[in-house]
Amino acid sequence: MKNPNMSEQQTFFSNLKCRECGRLYPKEAIHICEFDFGPLEAAYDYDLIAKHINREVIASRPQTMWRYRELLPIDGQPTVGAQVGFTPLVRADRLAKELGVEELYIKNDTVNYPTLSFKDRVVSVALSRACELGFKIVACASTGNLANSVAANAAAAGLTSYVLIPANLEKSKIVGSLVYGTQVIGIQGAYDQVNRLCSEIAGKYGWGFVNVNLRPYYAEGSKSMGFEIAEQLGWKLPRHTVIPMASGSLLTKIHKAYKEFIKVGILDEQPFSVHGAQASGCSPISEAKKKNSDIVKPVSKPDTIVKSLAIGTPADGYYAIRSMNETGGSADDCSDEEVIRGIRDLAEYAGIFAETAGGVTVACARKLIESGKIPRNESIVLCITGHGLKTQEAIHGHCGEPRVINPSLREFEALIANDAAVLEGSFKS
Ligand SMILES: *Cc1c(COP(=O)(O)O)cnc(C)c1O
Ligand SMILES: [Zn+2]
Repeated sequence: MKNPNMSEQQTFFSNLKCRECGRLYPKEAIHICEFDFGPLEAAYDYDLIAKHINREVIASRPQTMWRYRELLPIDGQPTVGAQVGFTPLVRADRLAKELGVEELYIKNDTVNYPTLSFKDRVVSVALSRACELGFKIVACASTGNLANSVAANAAAAGLTSYVLIPANLEKSKIVGSLVYGTQVIGIQGAYDQVNRLCSEIAGKYGWGFVNVNLRPYYAEGSKSMGFEIAEQLGWKLPRHTVIPMASGSLLTKIHKAYKEFIKVGILDEQPFSVHGAQASGCSPISEAKKKNSDIVKPVSKPDTIVKSLAIGTPADGYYAIRSMNETGGSADDCSDEEVIRGIRDLAEYAGIFAETAGGVTVACARKLIESGKIPRNESIVLCITGHGLKTQEAIHGHCGEPRVINPSLREFEALIANDAAVLEGSFKS
């Protein structure tokens, strides 16, 4: 991807930095501070970035997440996932009316390229960085979507990949990794056990685990969702953003993206709140937030149809709570039944078919609106993060069945005689 104003080969990302003590580290495949075990995060030279980019420069670039490349942690040009991102932000007036609010938008990552979830954003950064660091084998611990994205993007880039998942994931998510010829390893256990095993393998074999030793790079990819929301709203922030939480990383990074755009002068200072959404069968972050605590109590046996968000020990739970507290945001969680209703609401009122995590976002937004935590007259963006075709079994039998007849006009007319459109007379005979 060559573009004359792309700041070729110049890096704006200076170090890794401990989120706890602020110690600086070199830009290697490391993710934990040696002194206090704090997570490492990418640090940038914001003064330099402010001199290089502004609204016009960004707007002139190709419509992918890499139009914000100065604020992403790679040294050169992206080599993996060059076409990821810039998904639609759609105004959803019918859904707004159903939820009783004035101004509602869907950030629609169900159509993110190439694997139909927001995980392509984090993977394109992690694998581009993995190539810069010289890794030949890449891997991940996944609840499904990450595995799909690592498998696809590694295949396109010619990298060998191993993806480790809980063995009981949805069939479409398993097939959606196998098809790329990746090594899929199903673990008899919950995500936390998969993740622990991956830490051991990363230590012993030195592979590039996108969400373990490459996590500081991986996580930054989520910021692109926040940058896009701000740009697509006409260079302003929504007053409220509702975000599904698994490890809590996406929420913290959308928060970081909004702050960075203000810091480099692309946006004016303005109020905004980030709100978190989980499924009640695995809601360690929202439970803590609702109790006004920042101690996230692990859930040892997640029990929900929302497998993509089922992380019992969320790595960024504490920081997600801090982001919500800092911005006056709230969290909520919802039952599996409410998830299914959320999926159907989004489909019936906005024409978007989301996976279970999308149902969580819509259902929790409804609760936050009804409880007054999100005022009805302020702008809202719902982050919809994955496609419904990947979790069809979750709603199977909950949307009715087709009505079956013989190929006969008489049978057809008998069938539709009582349908609303016919009774209202919009039926031409
Ligand atoms: C991974 C994932 C999330 C959130 O992940 P975080 O770990 O909180 O960043 C949200 N939605 C879907 C569909 C996902 O796959
Ligand atoms: Zn530290």
